[in-house]
Amino acid sequence: MGSLRFHELGLDDRLLKAIADLGWAKPTLIQEKAIPLAMEGKDLLARARTGSGKTAAYAIPVIQSLLQAKMSVSEQAIRVLILVPTKELGQQVLQMIRQLTVYCARDIRVADISGHADISAQRPILMEKPDIVVGTPSRVLTHMTQQTICVRDTLQALVIDEADLVFSFGFEEDLKNLLCQLPKIFQSFLMSATFNEDVQALKELVLHNPVTLKLEESQLPDSSQLTQYQIQCEEEDKFLLLYTLLKLSLIRGKTIIFVNEVEKSYRLKLFLEQFSIPACVLNSELPVQSRCHIISQFNQGFYDYIIASDEYALADPSAKGKRPEGKKKKGGRGEKGQDKEYGVSRGIDFQNVSTVLNFDFPQSVDSYIHRAGRTARANNPGVALTFVSHPELPLLTKVEEALGGGGTEDCVLRPYRFRMEEVEGFRYRCRDAMRSVTKQAIKEARLKEIKEELLNSEKLKTYFEDNPRDFQLLRHDKPLHPAIVKPHLKNVPDYLVPPTLRSIADLRTGRKGRRIGASRFHGTKSKVRRGQNPLHSFKYTKSKKQ
Ligand code: AMP
Repeated sequence: MGSLRFHELGLDDRLLKAIADLGWAKPTLIQEKAIPLAMEGKDLLARARTGSGKTAAYAIPVIQSLLQAKMSVSEQAIRVLILVPTKELGQQVLQMIRQLTVYCARDIRVADISGHADISAQRPILMEKPDIVVGTPSRVLTHMTQQTICVRDTLQALVIDEADLVFSFGFEEDLKNLLCQLPKIFQSFLMSATFNEDVQALKELVLHNPVTLKLEESQLPDSSQLTQYQIQCEEEDKFLLLYTLLKLSLIRGKTIIFVNEVEKSYRLKLFLEQFSIPACVLNSELPVQSRCHIISQFNQGFYDYIIASDEYALADPSAKGKRPEGKKKKGGRGEKGQDKEYGVSRGIDFQNVSTVLNFDFPQSVDSYIHRAGRTARANNPGVALTFVSHPELPLLTKVEEALGGGGTEDCVLRPYRFRMEEVEGFRYRCRDAMRSVTKQAIKEARLKEIKEELLNSEKLKTYFEDNPRDFQLLRHDKPLHPAIVKPHLKNVPDYLVPPTLRSIADLRTGRKGRRIGASRFHGTKSKVRRGQNPLHSFKYTKSKKQ
């Protein structure tokens, strides 16, 4: 965290007001370093992981310089290009810029062309010459070739976000061609999670005398911000644990539950449905509009639980398995019919996630880091809790080694001392629920979900362009198999709550007439402060050393 305040950076009042509305007290480290340099006109190469505040680190100075330019030039023109590797990131950048320009939206227009829309449908948007255009290199190049984008005389700044991915996605050729269409002088920003050879090559291509910001940040926030726990258990116990942790409100606030396969995500959704715990499923089979909508609603507090399957990391942990727009295989889908652009654990910005729960152990250290990095972002605290079955133990050892844990005494993923015998009473309910979640039920649910989401996707097609604030009625966490839900499983009888957990569980179950998790239906931002997190306060969680 930096020590400067935003108002010390010489920013326009409208920007400062928008920043205040976002509730940002101070610039993050990358913002504190990058914004003044960018405002001096320097080219920047910044190593920044998602979650560090990197988007605003370039967006704020870009908006600031546009506001300044607007004071002397009235002609409307595309002045900033932001290149991104995926549609999801494109949407995210668009949203961030919209939030930052909320008080100067008339002066600064922004459009995202990275997405789904037809090239021809994007023409009218570009005809209006938005000041900032966000897009994948191939989309931007296509428009340049068709003369719908021409920035030879107008470009002030070029940003390449997640530059390492842009290159590894095979955009190299498009990017080179695109660069030929740019003027000689403009300011450049290269943001990248890693500084590999690809980024080095990009640097040569794009930057002139850049300032390099390699902030000394570890891959994950330190233990004062991110608490990491693990529970070793049998595979079947994972279901029991999940059920009790959620139902007794030991996990609260917005939670992402990660599994390793799409099928498992539906199994979990149906399992939780049995207990009337709604959750959204997020996977690469769903249409991109639905995915973006789910994340956007999750960020707004509509849902508490997302079950994400992170199979791209399985295919290739180095993230090269993702395939960009315009670079798809025949039919635009991967071998298993999955959209290769999908990457839940990398790049997509889930906001205010209080807990990441690895139901399945991630298949690589990288994947663990990316998943855990979905929580404790910016300056918020967070918890990463990982279930570890016996066969997954070697993976735990690898993660411990990579994160610097030195054996059980000072391990990074501390044992969450959960006494299974305390929740034995829940086991028969858990088994009851598991029996209903048959292979057939999962298959049906999966098909139903895809069918529904395809319909939703049609409705959503224009959503992000129009961005009407009231378009929120569409929910993605409806029960998929209501026929098999057993109503009696919804409530937890008092006698089942273990005595040691009563005081904690009661925090939420005890409120009369209010069922657990009811807040999710009121769009509350379930930001949980550290002291309030029962995962921290639970009697058995703390080892003596803490
Ligand atoms: P990014 O690294 O750009 O993906 O940003 C990660 C998250 O941090 C986003 O949800 C931003 O809204 C949030 N964020 C960015 N800058 C700040 C700040 N200075 N203070 C608090 N949150 C921030």
